[in-house]
Amino acid sequence: MLAEQDKEVIFVEMLDSFMNNITFDEKRVYEERFRDKPVSVHTGQRLESVNDDGIVVVDRCGGRTAISADSVVLAAGFRPNRGLIDGLRSELPQLQVLEAGDCVCPRKIFDAIHDGHLAAKLLD
Ligand SMILES: Cc1cc2nc3c(=O)[nH]c(=O)nc-3n(C[C@H](O)[C@H](O)[C@H](O)COP(=O)(O)OP(=O)(O)OC[C@H]3O[C@@H](n4cnc5c(N)ncnc54)[C@H](O)[C@@H]3O)c2cc1C
Repeated sequence: MLAEQDKEVIFVEMLDSFMNNITFDEKRVYEERFRDKPVSVHTGQRLESVNDDGIVVVDRCGGRTAISADSVVLAAGFRPNRGLIDGLRSELPQLQVLEAGDCVCPRKIFDAIHDGHLAAKLLD
């Protein structure tokens, strides 16, 4: 959206490839939207800090690079929230507790529906 407003967008990704965990078709859609837009991608760079001038990234060899930016958007991934499941299992060990969806591992809606279906089939 920002790139489509002709704002310069710089992606920083600590992995060696960009747009991981999406389908080939989704990737093509985004690549098409980025085409001819002021977008650049820095892979293999980990965000180290944010300051008044922008950000500092560090590569695998420990090399630091300062990148100027007016705004920083953090989208650094998800972790499962296990609190409720772990709590139920420890407080009520006699209870059958089944897991489905992002509490197992953050994925897509399809996976949550699939997990839910399998969990329902496992119910006593
Ligand atoms: C920003 C974002 C964009 C996404 N975009 C897509 C997409 O385009 N396509 C796609 O397929 N997937 C997408 N996903 C992933 C998708 O939303 C999840 O994989 C899916 O919603 C997981 O379903 P869920 O039922 O496991 O968890 P959730 O949908 O998170 O549902 C869990 C529910 O449990 C409730 N809850 C939590 N604790 C308690 C409690 N103690 N008691 C009662 N209720 C509780 C929560 O309020 C929540 O409503 C996206 C996720 C995010 C965060």
